[in-house]
Amino acid sequence: MISSTEYEPVIGLEVHAQMLTESKAFCGCSSRFGSEPNTNVCPVCLGMPGTLPVLNRALVEFILRMGLAVDCTIAPRSVFARKNYFYPDLPKGYQISQYEEPVCADGRVEIEIDESTRKSIRVKRIHMEEDAGKSIHDQGPDTLVDVNRCGVPLIEIVTEPDISSAREAYLYLQRVRQLVTYLGICDGNMEEGSLRCDANVSVRKRGAARLGTKTEVKNMNSFRNVERALEFEIHRQIALLEDGGRVTQETLLWDAGAGVAIPMRSKEEAHDYRYFPDPDLVSVVVDDAWLAAVRASLPELPHVRRDRFVELCSLPRYDADVLTSEKGTADYFEAALAALQGLSRSDPGENAKAVSNWVMTDVLRVLSERKASIAQFPVQPARLAAMIGLIQKGTISGKIAKEVFEEMLTSAEGPLAIVERKGLVQVSDEGAIEATIDTMLARNARQVEQYRAGNEKIFGFFVGETMKLTKGKANPRVVNELLRRKLSARKV
Ligand SMILES: [Zn+2]
Repeated sequence: MISSTEYEPVIGLEVHAQMLTESKAFCGCSSRFGSEPNTNVCPVCLGMPGTLPVLNRALVEFILRMGLAVDCTIAPRSVFARKNYFYPDLPKGYQISQYEEPVCADGRVEIEIDESTRKSIRVKRIHMEEDAGKSIHDQGPDTLVDVNRCGVPLIEIVTEPDISSAREAYLYLQRVRQLVTYLGICDGNMEEGSLRCDANVSVRKRGAARLGTKTEVKNMNSFRNVERALEFEIHRQIALLEDGGRVTQETLLWDAGAGVAIPMRSKEEAHDYRYFPDPDLVSVVVDDAWLAAVRASLPELPHVRRDRFVELCSLPRYDADVLTSEKGTADYFEAALAALQGLSRSDPGENAKAVSNWVMTDVLRVLSERKASIAQFPVQPARLAAMIGLIQKGTISGKIAKEVFEEMLTSAEGPLAIVERKGLVQVSDEGAIEATIDTMLARNARQVEQYRAGNEKIFGFFVGETMKLTKGKANPRVVNELLRRKLSARKV
């Protein structure tokens, strides 16, 4: 019987993030994903003799953004090193990386385990490096090589072993993804490999000072898989130790289909890579002026924006968290709110809550159904705001608004045009509603008797029947008032 509470997992993560620069790290080739194989290449990224790499300034700016966002110390001078190994998808025989002197060190990323528990995960270092090419094994008997990815710029974010569960690893990764997308330096797409995560995992008896032997887990290409793979590996190590066995230092590949991590090769020692300073590249010098300019260009970071939404818009914290989880969603919300403020006499807090409700329920529901991003959402913020404005004015009911919203998804019309074309204007005229109520009550004499006999719970039934007869167009407030008046009048 495994008592997992006796053990404490110790996890460190290495995240590779592909930078959204136009060109590669050391040459002018495009770094775009999804081009025809072997078309974005030149003698520099192929490492032909006699060529010289030239550092892409945008890569340095991007890593500085990340370093500043997670409170790293920025080295005024850092160097590139060669990481030597032989592999078919690496024609140069080495990757340019940073080893002993990275640009960024000693930062922290804060995660929220629940509403009241925050934890700071220390970032040991962030460095720049270039990617290797790609071997393709699944197109016929031969292995094919695509070297488009050679030289594509990456940053690697390495944590201290501060993560204590698979859940925390998941939260950390979510936070990193949120940061890189807010900073506009990476698209954060794990499935396409623009964000990749490797983990060092060990377990030890709770309270023990010494770290256990660690394994490295690779090939976890989604957030969910990171959590599953780490759960698997933590339980495997605990079971092994409980059986009197020992953990072997090795690299494991996560097999998502089978739900297991399979040993890949015994762990290479760092010196196997024979790191040495790259003689073709000068040191990277970041002076105060450059650093100040990058700092000034940083966007509002997600947690700051979240707090602003809570304070300025009086939004519940939950809403603010959901709305700021993606930068695009937060931008959309703010644009819709600004548009509504221009139309509406309601107070800003009320407007914010109204927009927030529509974004959180209807907009995000449609995006998740369509597996689309907010950038692809067909209803622009101003159109959504105009529709909410119609509800506030009493032109349409909240129920009818759902119908208008669905219509806007497929039509470019404004909400008012849709309401007029489909005859959806809310009926508030008491005479018309009263006539409908009379018809409805006459049809449901039995229920009226029950109500009169004291079963007040069926009031909602009368409201529902009236709304049905008016095809949802009656003003619910007027319906409620008239019904109460009529039913109590008949009681006497
Ligand atoms: Zn090139």
